[in-house]
Amino acid sequence: MKERVILHCDANSFFASVEVANKPNLKNLPVAVAGNPKKRTGIILTKNHIAKKYGVETGEAIWQAKLKCPNLVLFAPHYKIYEYYSAKLKEIYEKYTDRVESFGIDECWLDVSDTYKFFGTPKELADKIRNEVKTSLNITISVGVSFCKLFAKLASDMKKPDATTIIDKRKFKEIIYPLPITDIIGIGRKLEKRYNQLGITKLGEITQVPDEILKKKFGILGIELKQKLLGYDYDEVNLFDNHVKPKSVGNGTTTIIDVYSRKEIMDVVTMLSEEISTRLRRDGFIAKGLAVGIKTATFEYFHKSKLMNITTNNSKDLVYESMNLIDSFWQYNQAVRAIRICAYNLSNANIVQLNMFTNIIKTKSIDNALDKIRKKYGYYSITPAIKINNTKLDMSRIEV
Ligand SMILES: [Mg+2]
Repeated sequence: MKERVILHCDANSFFASVEVANKPNLKNLPVAVAGNPKKRTGIILTKNHIAKKYGVETGEAIWQAKLKCPNLVLFAPHYKIYEYYSAKLKEIYEKYTDRVESFGIDECWLDVSDTYKFFGTPKELADKIRNEVKTSLNITISVGVSFCKLFAKLASDMKKPDATTIIDKRKFKEIIYPLPITDIIGIGRKLEKRYNQLGITKLGEITQVPDEILKKKFGILGIELKQKLLGYDYDEVNLFDNHVKPKSVGNGTTTIIDVYSRKEIMDVVTMLSEEISTRLRRDGFIAKGLAVGIKTATFEYFHKSKLMNITTNNSKDLVYESMNLIDSFWQYNQAVRAIRICAYNLSNANIVQLNMFTNIIKTKSIDNALDKIRKKYGYYSITPAIKINNTKLDMSRIEV
């Protein structure tokens, strides 16, 4: 079997980098993105490498981070912009191969086995992609190069920011085997403990354990991981249009101050629906199921879901259907702190019958026009009218 060339491209401090991408005056300052720096959810979500040097950690409270780094520049998260950059990154990667598989918002595997020769060596291609990202998007990525997905991902973690790391067949044992087992995605605290019980703390030690013991303790996956660590990882990078179908697309937000009225709640629902519909259209899905959740100021949580009479990826439909659902169980007599909407029961948008009872052609073309404008001029070139002068809405959000 021909040796494969797999790249794993991982954006460095993605949220924080996007925030400073077009603000050169912040380039050399410590920056973090935190859940609503102004009011409620004051926790560091991500930080740039300068903030990291001060000891700022993900998950800690803003006041703790500020003690270590008094001049820390804070931003509320802007998920729409991150998604926009995520799509732009993918566009760049897809210039070099049709085999691009997303993993989360800021990571992709690229199988360049058949294409890298057009651009030089694998390292030259990795460097070229890195430079293209830097010059066109003003953010940096780390690229891992290897003969399989697992090692490419480990490699991209080794040097940050803006670096290429190669793990080839001759050297992988000396590079990978001394690493702690928790460096592998999927080995969390629980699994770590169970490996520890066998006296295993380093990745290389897994390769020494007999298959029977691994099977007994971890099932077939235990043996699979051992095989991969021995260099037998044949997992394929998915074709870009063949990506794993998500089960649902959801979005939630915490408002800066409590909202009460139907109008205020509908404003929030409109914001959320617009983002969900953008994501659905981007990924080629339409939804049949819809769920809404409302968290009160006293932290009670109410939710309801339904299958709609239509299938849609249109923002107006989602607003209409969500408000219908909310009307069916909500009295608008309590302070609302957070709202979440989730579209589920997804199917491929291209194989759906036209629904005769919605003005699907018209609304579809409006949404497509929006997508086109944004593609050309950037996400914020066009925003829903309700955002203007609405002091209660904030782009910052947490999962409800
Ligand atoms: Mg990253």
